[in-house]
Amino acid sequence: MPFSSTDTQITKCGHLAQLLGPKVSFPNSTTYLATEKAYWSLQEAELLPTCIVVPSTAEDVSTTVSTIAGNEGCPFAIKGAGHAPQAGAANIESGVTIDMTGLASVTVNGDKSVASVGAGASWLDVYLYLDDLGVAVAGGRNAAVGVGGLTLGGGISYFAPRQGWACDNVVNFEIVLASGAIVNANATARPDLWRALKGGSNNFGIVTRFDLQTFSQGGLWGGALAQSINSSDEVFKAFANIASAPQYDPYASLVTSLSFNSTNQQWSISHLATYTKPVADPPVFNELLAIEPQLQNTLGFTNLSTLTNEPGLPTQLNALFYTATYGVSATLLAKILEISNETLYSINSQVPSGTFWGLAFEPLPTQVTKYGPLKGGNSLGTTPADGNGVILLLSAFWASPSANDIVQQTARTIMQNAAEAAQEMGLLREFVYLNYANQVQEPIASYGREDVARLRAAARRYDPSGVFQRQVPGGFKVLV
Ligand SMILES: Cc1cc2nc3c(=O)[nH]c(=O)nc-3n(C[C@H](O)[C@H](O)[C@H](O)COP(=O)(O)OP(=O)(O)OC[C@H]3O[C@@H](n4cnc5c(N)ncnc54)[C@H](O)[C@@H]3O)c2cc1C
Repeated sequence: MPFSSTDTQITKCGHLAQLLGPKVSFPNSTTYLATEKAYWSLQEAELLPTCIVVPSTAEDVSTTVSTIAGNEGCPFAIKGAGHAPQAGAANIESGVTIDMTGLASVTVNGDKSVASVGAGASWLDVYLYLDDLGVAVAGGRNAAVGVGGLTLGGGISYFAPRQGWACDNVVNFEIVLASGAIVNANATARPDLWRALKGGSNNFGIVTRFDLQTFSQGGLWGGALAQSINSSDEVFKAFANIASAPQYDPYASLVTSLSFNSTNQQWSISHLATYTKPVADPPVFNELLAIEPQLQNTLGFTNLSTLTNEPGLPTQLNALFYTATYGVSATLLAKILEISNETLYSINSQVPSGTFWGLAFEPLPTQVTKYGPLKGGNSLGTTPADGNGVILLLSAFWASPSANDIVQQTARTIMQNAAEAAQEMGLLREFVYLNYANQVQEPIASYGREDVARLRAAARRYDPSGVFQRQVPGGFKVLV
């Protein structure tokens, strides 16, 4: 009988258990189940690896990679905080999942200018530590999200208009390469890898530590603001005026979300409006705040760890992300709402009740994209030459796996029709944000020819046998 992949995986997991002891866990053990429970989406939690490794040092990660790399019968996955929704992004059915949450320490250097963060930390770990020191870093707006996935995919933070993408602020990556070597990538050591990792996701190795540039930060002003769906046209106008302002206010951050509940067929509007300085009712939000009625308003003074520590989903649900980038236009946003509404009403009878949909619009002004080139370059291909933009995140949540196909199909229809509308208006942009991308999208290809060439060269140089292309099937691949 031929030696099967399953035999290889069992053998490799056995070797890993000999080398790393209780850091390797097997199905039904408490540690194994704790990792499985930590995935944000049900699709990820349903995948069952042969074993899970929870390393607590970079050396443990190196031992793990050295043991399994090059053995194609033993695929593996790299998990940060497990918030990428698509099945297989950070987990694997039969194979080894490396759960990085055992490396979650946060420290700062002597002058507090650099925070060194274990790759498995959540943003809450980081903000709780830094808030007390009067400094911050550009990271996630939801505390439970992982430093690893968010930063390697770009990373939109409340501070984006002051600091650029989260990845622009990584001064050094400590990374385990396919060879098992633990190396640094920064402006002077391996600068090609440093740049590749800023948007290149899990294609080059397993990052074990992020050294992040800090900046002074006191309190902020922000919270949630809900408005009636009947105000959508006024809301889109106010949003577009903020997103396309000739001088974008660098302290302003805004996410405008329209949510649809399939059970009651109702749309609602809410904003996450934040000013990263302790200024109440800053003029940048005047037009938005003047729209009545306000159905909820929690805007007020806060700090980063409190603001980001919003409640998660009540239970693990199936989840879907899909994204696109457009030029700024209130007319286009209204058109996207109309397209979504028509599509959702027409398929409603096929989707079980209790499916929730969200359209989240986020400004991507040149005030954000200008920082990439100023901070050593990233891989994302976003430049001020593109002008001000808007990123759309379409999301869906549902309980029953029987609806997986129809929800995916519906999301695709909405996004294809929205793309056509944007194209007709000359507002469709190429950029597909990796951290919001659906599994059928190709975010890395959207970075453009030059960045893709650089990413491929770095992958060939640092992983010549293609371990992170083939043996780590999850996530979005550079495809050397
Ligand atoms: C509730 C919620 C809020 C969000 N808020 C924001 C936000 O404010 N801003 C924003 O930009 N995005 C946001 N996102 C999107 C988020 O950036 C992505 O989901 C991201 O992938 C999450 O990172 P993670 O480490 O939690 O995920 P994981 O699913 O663990 O990892 C995602 C990908 O990164 C890879 N990866 C993770 N760690 C490493 C590592 N150490 N080395 C190599 N590869 C690694 C994984 O293999 C996987 O392919 C949010 C998502 C959710 C669900």
